[in-house]
Amino acid sequence: MFFDSHAHINHEEYSPEARAQLARSIELSDVGFVVDVGFDLNSSAQAVADAAQYDWCYAAVGVHPHDAAEMNDEILTRIEALAAAPKVVAIGEIGLDFFRNISPEDDQRYWFRKQIRLGLKLGLPILIHDRDSAGETIRILTEEGALSDMRRSVFPPNPVTGIPDARILLHCYSGTADEALLLIEQGATISLAGPVTYKKNTKTAEVAARVPLSHLLIETDAPYLSPEPFRGKPNSSPFVVHTAQKIADFRGVARSEIEETTCANACRFFGIDRK
Ligand SMILES: [Zn+2]
Repeated sequence: MFFDSHAHINHEEYSPEARAQLARSIELSDVGFVVDVGFDLNSSAQAVADAAQYDWCYAAVGVHPHDAAEMNDEILTRIEALAAAPKVVAIGEIGLDFFRNISPEDDQRYWFRKQIRLGLKLGLPILIHDRDSAGETIRILTEEGALSDMRRSVFPPNPVTGIPDARILLHCYSGTADEALLLIEQGATISLAGPVTYKKNTKTAEVAARVPLSHLLIETDAPYLSPEPFRGKPNSSPFVVHTAQKIADFRGVARSEIEETTCANACRFFGIDRK
């Protein structure tokens, strides 16, 4: 069974009918769990509604760095209220995106810090979006105590490696393998998405081959970032199989090993009891 650790079932591009059809296609696939990730207030509320409607769906609530310019204290209060709903398993996606800079950098930094503090206060896992921040995302996480001993004492250590777990997920990880290993030592978890299947992406291929499987999750980031052979087309959770296959190829193991281990890892990361 596959666990898609990051998708946007909540995306505003889906009509209610399209969303219901998407849900049916997930139910007919080998995907058993999806975390529906908020990126602004509306999508966070939709994620909570989706989680209430579908057994396999869990929600994350938060405001993406692209939307930081529109963020305010009232929205933060409403995100906190949503976080108390059943099946909300994380704060996210939050972080920095200096590649597109849709919101001013200072707004991004401010609301990133505020939402990290919310995740720490609530004791929830935190889902990180990091693009071209030149290390600032990790610096802020560190300054805010998201990788501190105190945060790591909230959760049990990784049962395979014994490394303390801060329940910080670097979603659609795009850094180097060496950086990933250092982050894992500090208590972070790595999630790989469709770009690991892209031929020229040797950097992420190396990550897939070298990170300990015990600290790896997989995701689609649907409707974005379709894996090969669907690159350029709309993505959806069942395509996570292609990402798993590519990681299995890079590691020289069976796809079922990636499927089962990343599913167990994600259930542990999000605190979900697998029936
Ligand atoms: Zn996303």
